[in-house]
Amino acid sequence: MDLENLNFKVITNEGAKCGFCNKILKPKGLDYLYANVSKDYIEYERCNCKDAIKFWKEYDLKLYKDEQQKKYKETINKIYNDNFLKKRLQKYNFENIDFLNIETIKIIENYTKECIKGKMKDGIIIYGNFGYENTYIAACIANKMIENDKIILMEKSSSILDRIKESFNKNTISELELIELYSNIDMLIIDDFASEIFSKWAVDELYKIINNRYENELPIVITTRYTKEELISKISSETDLKDAKDLVQILYKMCYGVSIVNSDFDNKNQVEKV
Ligand SMILES: [Zn+2]
Repeated sequence: MDLENLNFKVITNEGAKCGFCNKILKPKGLDYLYANVSKDYIEYERCNCKDAIKFWKEYDLKLYKDEQQKKYKETINKIYNDNFLKKRLQKYNFENIDFLNIETIKIIENYTKECIKGKMKDGIIIYGNFGYENTYIAACIANKMIENDKIILMEKSSSILDRIKESFNKNTISELELIELYSNIDMLIIDDFASEIFSKWAVDELYKIINNRYENELPIVITTRYTKEELISKISSETDLKDAKDLVQILYKMCYGVSIVNSDFDNKNQVEKV
């Protein structure tokens, strides 16, 4: 249904009628006999016919989503002094990639398109030996989504954790608000995942965010230099093996793997479902 189309009501001389079933709609809040109010500003009761109920349900949902988006944008403005994607990264786009084969680029581009449509609930783990190339691809996804007015954050896991820690001392934003932000924005990209040592607290916080996105059916992009086994062993160095496994497990449950490692230098990159 087209929400921009306001034909759900038809203004006539007797007042407004439901655009779906022609029922006369009562104006809301007009308890005086006459006022020089422009017809455009008069609000009418909502009709209770099937089509009108469907219309208003979608209308309210869109309104709710718009308000959430506005709230997240405000939160981001509050906590990020600079643009949330660094200047250098802003230039990266799919057309400029020269280190990936076309097939792989196409897969990632299509993935990004589905994310823009809001139809993608799977994530991607971008695996490669070189941090630069991983970051480049992630930034392409980010830039494309920003171009399409999506709310994205691209951060290193350490900086996500630092922001949560900061929230304990500053009263500009609470830990809960931050977790809500990371859990609900259109796209969260965690760059160079697990390049640092995670404490048990850090693993718990990251698990919360990633699991929330899984439950909310929202995508995530992870770039990392580590394979699944390496991730588990790296993360478990300062925390329980079980917690480390749970964190990696949830990521692998919700993500496709894109490997950009040139194992035999023939410039062939593999893409596989993990
Ligand atoms: Zn109606």
